[in-house]
Amino acid sequence: MKRRPLERKERKVMKNKYPGDCVVCGKRVEAGEGFPEKQNGVWKVRCLQCVIKNQERKAQRDPERYGKFQKKDAE
Ligand SMILES: [Zn+2]
Repeated sequence: MKRRPLERKERKVMKNKYPGDCVVCGKRVEAGEGFPEKQNGVWKVRCLQCVIKNQERKAQRDPERYGKFQKKDAE
């Protein structure tokens, strides 16, 4: 019998429902192409590139906690 793991340790990734401009680089982000971010109680959008950059910065500062987000090869 095949057993399927019910709980996969997968983090729910929330994508933006509405298009907007990235809070970091100002680039246009279409719905579902970025990530929502709450700033002063208002939902803003951050583009994928800026999210990755942010994660890399975190990974450098705190590799044990955020190391998983590092890119495989750092060009
Ligand atoms: Zn951006």
